Amino acid sequence: MPAQLKPAAFLDRDGVINSYVYNPEFGTVDSPSHPDQFELKPGAAKAIAMLNRLGLPVIVVSNQPGVAKRKFSVELLQSMTEKMHAEIEAGGGKLDAVYYCLHHPQAAVAEYRRQCYCRKPQPGLLFEAARDFGIDLGRSYMIGDAITDIAAGNRAATRTILVSGRKCYLCEELERRQLRPDFVVESLVRAAELVRALEQGDCVDNGLACAPEELAGDGPLAAGFYSCLPYVKSELAEML
Ligand SMILES: [Mg+2]
Ligand SMILES: [Zn+2]
Repeated sequence: MPAQLKPAAFLDRDGVINSYVYNPEFGTVDSPSHPDQFELKPGAAKAIAMLNRLGLPVIVVSNQPGVAKRKFSVELLQSMTEKMHAEIEAGGGKLDAVYYCLHHPQAAVAEYRRQCYCRKPQPGLLFEAARDFGIDLGRSYMIGDAITDIAAGNRAATRTILVSGRKCYLCEELERRQLRPDFVVESLVRAAELVRALEQGDCVDNGLACAPEELAGDGPLAAGFYSCLPYVKSELAEML
């Protein structure tokens, strides 16, 4: 008998698990390029612990072209990954695996210069993880803060959860591309609560109506917004 496939939670890294880094010199935000810049977002470890308790493998799928662009070394990326594991574990959570795409089509480092199938929006990292862990993609969740995350989730046929500020800057562009995330939430904490509600059947299947009290959860959650309803334009308009 074939092993039972299980659902997983796929997490983007930058902007979901850890904060972006503001560069005052250029007025830009970017992925951290050094472990000292790597800071978990508030509640991230707790959210991952919540996903762990649901029995879902928690798997990071992240584009990290910084090595290819000579922004940082493989060793520094490794150190950042170790810090991520350590801080999440210190907060009671555990990542089951981390998959990075190191490629970039215009990489400065020749070894990483390619059009690959693993750089999101391509779904390669999700497929690779699905093979390694025996994952049922259709029952899984892709949680990310970028258009490419939603696109990769769509291509792998997972459910998709966009992590976005209350003002959804990406929603209009997503709409234009007809890339509708199944859900929009304001943080990884909210995403984990939503997944818990879905996995435990607290959301009614036909309308996915969630009781806000059920999702409020415990812990230091600021009053936020989330949508248990499939993302539709009318709701989008309210958020904008
Ligand atoms: Mg991101
Ligand atoms: Zn790649």
